Amino acid sequence: MSITPLMPVYPRCGFRPVRGDHCHLIGEDGRRYLDFAAGIAVNILGHSHEGLIGAIQQQAATLMHVSNLYGSPQGEHLAKRLVDLTFADTVFFTNSGAEAVECAIKTARAYHQHVGNDHKFELITFKNAFHGRTMATISASNQEKMHKGFMPLLPGFKYVDFDDLEGAKAAMGPNTAGFLVEPIQGEGGIRPASESFMHGLRSLADEHDLMLVLDEVQTGVARTGTMYAHEQYDIVPDILATAKGIGGGFPLGACLATEKAARGMVFGAHGSTYGGNPLAMAAGEAVLDVVANEEFLTHVRTMSDKLRARLEQFIGNYPELFELVRGRGLMLGVKMKMESRAFVGHLRENQQLLTVSAGDNTLRLVPPLVIDESHIDEFMEKLSAGASSFSPGEDA
Ligand SMILES: *Cc1c(COP(=O)(O)O)cnc(C)c1O
Repeated sequence: MSITPLMPVYPRCGFRPVRGDHCHLIGEDGRRYLDFAAGIAVNILGHSHEGLIGAIQQQAATLMHVSNLYGSPQGEHLAKRLVDLTFADTVFFTNSGAEAVECAIKTARAYHQHVGNDHKFELITFKNAFHGRTMATISASNQEKMHKGFMPLLPGFKYVDFDDLEGAKAAMGPNTAGFLVEPIQGEGGIRPASESFMHGLRSLADEHDLMLVLDEVQTGVARTGTMYAHEQYDIVPDILATAKGIGGGFPLGACLATEKAARGMVFGAHGSTYGGNPLAMAAGEAVLDVVANEEFLTHVRTMSDKLRARLEQFIGNYPELFELVRGRGLMLGVKMKMESRAFVGHLRENQQLLTVSAGDNTLRLVPPLVIDESHIDEFMEKLSAGASSFSPGEDA
């Protein structure tokens, strides 16, 4: 047998973390790595946050899981908190980002089908988007590398260029149910949508009774310096998917919706065995306790401004490697002059610095939101040493 026990779908690198210490990870060999990847924008409180650990420990010892057939004081409480913090009137809890997007897609379809508009099932989505790895969420993306081997796709998605409002308008037809979009494309290369695009989609949705569905799985939960990125665009969605940071490392996601948008999500329409169980709710509460306040959001924006200014200044030293810096809050991307994967590997192997590659030649920086200036100093030192010793063409 040559297949590995762990299904070989990830090209795993040699670094094997065994312990976390705030904004660092420690490998099997005891070496410390500065973590500006944070489990891909997940560990927003770092790796050893006492509040989060304590909440999980306490809840695990009290009650871990019960069925959604029973009442849930924990679920009601966290849902109410999210409703109070956002545009939403109602929340469905999931265990992952893809499930949150899946629920968002179903909610958008059900909005129309609930009143007999069965033909309105199509969502207009955007090229190079990433919405997850289930059949519906890969079908929502035009990226062929995620489709290969899994045909046929689920019908009902139409792909348009990202940030192209005219294209989105032209793609609309009698079957259109709404739009599904990331306000800042994450995997696609940390590419923020323009104000006019987001406002335009909101207006089109209003004019034609369509659902504006935001995938804020990566941009949400203080990552961009506001609780959700759409707040910075001064628009509200009808439906929103959130995950990654919301559990701080515990698997948790949610689909948020207005009362109007959720009209089709009635008894029996949807469900999840684990979704919203007391253990996950405890993690979500502990994360919100830390991040859902102006002081924390200001901290994220301050760290973002400092990191961004340092990066902007730094990339000028290496015009052959770096092109520009983009993103918002602590979701920043450095667009490179070549594929970023080899440089990510170089930083990891030679500087013990963890970053993530993204599409469009982008070096993705999504550190824990609890970094302070000492981490930015350490990051810049490592980045600088890494850039000076990097030869493009080097193996990842
Ligand atoms: C990570 C991500 C997802 C998928 O989340 P999973 O938890 O891996 O299922 C969906 N949408 C966006 C924008 C993401 O960044």
